[in-house]
Amino acid sequence: MTEDWFEDELPWLGPPPQLPPQRDRSRPVPERHTPPRRLPTTMPVRASAAAAIPFPPEHVPPRRPTAAVPPFVRIPQNPVSDGAASKWIGVALIMLAGMLAFAAIMRESRNDREPAPVPVAQLVIPAATDPSTGDPLAGIVPNPAFSGKVICLDAAHGGFDRGFRRTGDTSAPAMEEALYTAAYARELAGQLGAMGFTVVLTRDGDVVRNSQFQDVNRDSRTRENAETDADAQRNALLDEMQARIDYCNDQRANLLVSLHFDGSGNPGESGYAIWYAEGRVDTGESQRLAESIDRQLAQALGATGYTVVDGGVQSESVAVTRGNQMVYDSLFMITGARDGLKDPSRMPGIVADLLTISNTEDARLLASGAGRTAIVSAVAQAIGAYFDTTAANG
Ligand SMILES: [Zn+2]
Repeated sequence: MTEDWFEDELPWLGPPPQLPPQRDRSRPVPERHTPPRRLPTTMPVRASAAAAIPFPPEHVPPRRPTAAVPPFVRIPQNPVSDGAASKWIGVALIMLAGMLAFAAIMRESRNDREPAPVPVAQLVIPAATDPSTGDPLAGIVPNPAFSGKVICLDAAHGGFDRGFRRTGDTSAPAMEEALYTAAYARELAGQLGAMGFTVVLTRDGDVVRNSQFQDVNRDSRTRENAETDADAQRNALLDEMQARIDYCNDQRANLLVSLHFDGSGNPGESGYAIWYAEGRVDTGESQRLAESIDRQLAQALGATGYTVVDGGVQSESVAVTRGNQMVYDSLFMITGARDGLKDPSRMPGIVADLLTISNTEDARLLASGAGRTAIVSAVAQAIGAYFDTTAANG
């Protein structure tokens, strides 16, 4: 099965994962209610990561010319001259300074009028292909009913946030949730595109939207002003997820699908679960989609001969009663009102935990081309069925 693993396809996800930049401990931690509003100039990067491409990309502010001497300065006439030589040397120096300042201003107005844009996830939708042959996927024909329907596809984690990880062994490769969600999202985007949907990705590649770690959710809590590393990570995570929600809202998406994989300290735990949030006007729609994905996954994985644990359709309140902070946080993308949430997503949505990467058998299936295609096709068909039913309901 080793030959089926698609680790070698992962380089298109961009540079290798970067370690989260170390917070600068030499600076005093500012008060929580007075966060620094300035853009960070450069992000300190841990020494081991410094050799690689810096993450986030260093933002070098444009050099401002010294306000010393404007061009065409009027030289004051001094009737009591100390001497012609020193006077002309002074005039020459002033003119030189003026020319330099003028050149600097011109250079700045040409190149640096706008601040450098914050890099965001690129939108690159691949053509749907059969991963084994590279041919266009057989059997997928565009459905006119899906035309104009926008799916916001979220590959959970990425950048500073790696999600669940497993070390490699003879049974399954080393895996990072952040890379696998991106790989699965790409293939799902291809299939949905071939079906006639418009797909937008919250990220494409190993990147984040909020690369400057700004206070996107306006809770005055950022990575920078947190007092512990755990708080810094969570603050950054909520700001990043709010940025992704804002993107789905801006794109006027009809559906939000957030892809995760589960992980556990107990390697015996396995299987998948599909989550939705209660208490929203579109809760019924989200639950219906979750049930559809659950059914299709059970069918598709059963057809591959894999005995899978079906964790079923789960609601946000289950994550709360179980006290599962990690799952609860991941439902931020689809929840209603919640602490730290500035604007909820404005479309039905689900969070899918597509198998469990800490389980060896699940990991083997996830890392195989056959497993990936089976899972992605099941999710794509469920989304198609969801919209078919939506259309039938009027
Ligand atoms: Zn996750």
